[in-house]
Amino acid sequence: MQGVGFRPWVWQLARALKLRGSVRNDARGVLIEIWGDSEKLNQFVDHLEQGTPPLSRIESIECSPLVAGQNIPADFIIASSRGGDVRTGVASDATTCSECLSEIFDPHDRRYAYPFTNCTHCGPRLSIVREIPYDRANTSMADFPMCPSCQVEYEDPSNRRFHAQPNACADCGPRVWLEKGSGDRLALEGEGVIRKAAELIGEGRILAIKGIGGIHLACDAANESAVDELRRRKKRYHKAFALMARDLEMISRYARVDPTAAASLSDPAAPIVIMSSQGQGETLASGISPGQNSYGFMLPYTPLHHLLMALLDEPVVLTSGNLSDEPQCISNAEARDKLGGIADFLLLHDRDIVTRLDDSVMRLSAGRPRILRRARGYAPQPISLPPGFNGSRKVLAMGAELKNTFCLLGEGRAVLSQHLGDLENASVFREYQRMLEHYQRLYDFEPDLIVVDKHPDYLSAQLGRRLAEERGLPLIETQHHHAHMAACMAEHQLPADTEPVLGLILDGLGYGDDGSIWGGEFLLGDYQEYRRLASFSPVPMPGGAMAIREPWRNCFAHLAAALGWEQVESAYSDLELIQFLKTRPLANLRKMLDKGINSPPASSAGRLFDAVAAAVGLCRERITFEGQAAIELEALSEAYVDDFRSAGYPVDTGGKHLNWAPLWEALLNDLQRGRAPGVIGARFHNGFVAAVSEITAALCSDYLVNTVVLGGGVFQNRLLLEGVSRQLRQQGFAVFAPQRLPANDGGLSLGQVVIGCQR
Ligand code: ZN
Ligand code: ZN
Ligand code: FE
Repeated sequence: MQGVGFRPWVWQLARALKLRGSVRNDARGVLIEIWGDSEKLNQFVDHLEQGTPPLSRIESIECSPLVAGQNIPADFIIASSRGGDVRTGVASDATTCSECLSEIFDPHDRRYAYPFTNCTHCGPRLSIVREIPYDRANTSMADFPMCPSCQVEYEDPSNRRFHAQPNACADCGPRVWLEKGSGDRLALEGEGVIRKAAELIGEGRILAIKGIGGIHLACDAANESAVDELRRRKKRYHKAFALMARDLEMISRYARVDPTAAASLSDPAAPIVIMSSQGQGETLASGISPGQNSYGFMLPYTPLHHLLMALLDEPVVLTSGNLSDEPQCISNAEARDKLGGIADFLLLHDRDIVTRLDDSVMRLSAGRPRILRRARGYAPQPISLPPGFNGSRKVLAMGAELKNTFCLLGEGRAVLSQHLGDLENASVFREYQRMLEHYQRLYDFEPDLIVVDKHPDYLSAQLGRRLAEERGLPLIETQHHHAHMAACMAEHQLPADTEPVLGLILDGLGYGDDGSIWGGEFLLGDYQEYRRLASFSPVPMPGGAMAIREPWRNCFAHLAAALGWEQVESAYSDLELIQFLKTRPLANLRKMLDKGINSPPASSAGRLFDAVAAAVGLCRERITFEGQAAIELEALSEAYVDDFRSAGYPVDTGGKHLNWAPLWEALLNDLQRGRAPGVIGARFHNGFVAAVSEITAALCSDYLVNTVVLGGGVFQNRLLLEGVSRQLRQQGFAVFAPQRLPANDGGLSLGQVVIGCQR
């Protein structure tokens, strides 16, 4: 990777050992030619493998003796690259390093309080690159010619700013300012701007803050009315707000920071980490994460954030600056246009954001930190392919529809784009097309093959089909859940010629081979092909897309399918749930179900969770973001799951097709007995876990398989992932679950490229 300070580090190491030679980039990596006695050379290689610069990683070292008689340099030098183009890729943006941090808080340092301080160990990368090679002129730092002091640092191999492309100081670099939502600029500079911003937040104002990969909206997280006002103005009513706190100590006042969480929070990627909201007893505004028992915290990751947070005694909300569902704003003009009406003040700067990067999100589940959204700090770090993928083909995979990412495969590795969002939003789709071009240029990538989802209506698939036609390229269509399965297999390095494995894919919706909607699948397969051994019984979704937004529709459809509506209505007529459903236009719905009008059958796990959530009274009428009902059901059930471990609802798993009728009957009986919704949720989770585990184990023994691969967005549910993993591991199976890539459609494009590659 360029721009991570690797060559200067080699230079320093060689000089310290008084060795002669050179270091340069070549097309395959870093080439070091070095002369000296063997003891010192061994020391050199030992050191090389330890203590690499923070943003670099050595994949492998190959050593071979140099031919005698070559010209031995008198010293150790950093040589220019050889062999034409160097395609080492772009690094991801990294949180401010400890050295830069001490500079900005040191009143005697020339970078004191300078909000754009960075070095080769930290700072912006992908977010500022316009073109390759990664030189300052090809970044949005091109507008800021370096002052003599910065230039000296930039040219000195012993300086940690040697070839740090975004190097800057207050004399030559970008600047911050504050303006009112109405557009008037405040007459303040530098430190004064940040001081004033902190004051305004303390007073309960809402600020737009331009960061490294996008513009956020911020307010005091302990201020009820500020948080409510932000929700109202942003029209984001339920989805949890992310938080930023000064340090781990501040986070632990509000959330449980165990060592794994602390390590994830302190990673150079500085993701949002979702943690239990049981800290040392202090609480934040109730509107931060309604219906959940968790907070999503991150630590400051730019000098600007560090300087601001140092002046505040409470965490701040730091949520993406956008109108609902649109992509986060990145330009000053967009911020004024779209956020001027939401924010009271805008804290802006004059460095352009070239690539929008949302904050990445992580959650601890089944003992590991797992990525739920992969963007800033992780993209575009390449993913090594498993053994057997030589990568001689160049494959472009277009991703799915929601939470889209695309993926480029070539030279033995896969590069996944950052999370782009839901393509059904027109501005996200435009951004998707722009990023497709940007990545292909950055990696000088020309695909030999294009892979799309089988779904006829996904915009990504339509675009992929068009591109294949225009460029005369072969096109491969992958089944959605096979791609989920392959993504997890590739992430866990199952070899290209792997024996078939069992894929348990629990998902929202995906297009099935028979043209119906799938989403609760038991697949047997490898990278090339698969068989659908079993699945959930399909239940129609009355109203199609309406059923996704209005969980009561799925509740009604599930009850009707499991027990028959007439029976339910007569046997449970006193239940509040039934009374509620009867206020809905049921006659209409029943007609639709009977005649199969706009009621596509779906074997979806996600819709079952929605239906159960609605039954216990969660998000009955509508959800405002994808997965809301399931997330709230999980939160409610958490406290009871262990106590009711052996009291899961019964599921009929005979014949290997799950029949939920016994589960629904037991659930309705519990409602009638007035049991707490959390208890019902826990019994549902436990019964569900037992049933899917039982079928998986039975299929594994029928087909002599020992490896189970999990995937699909429903596995973001921690109770489910932990329960299924535990039950299957207890029976001796090897179980793999998505970890470095999201279990949801954000990880799908990796599965698509590897399937494409193998076919
Ligand atoms: Zn630094
Ligand atoms: Zn300077
Ligand atoms: Fe999916």
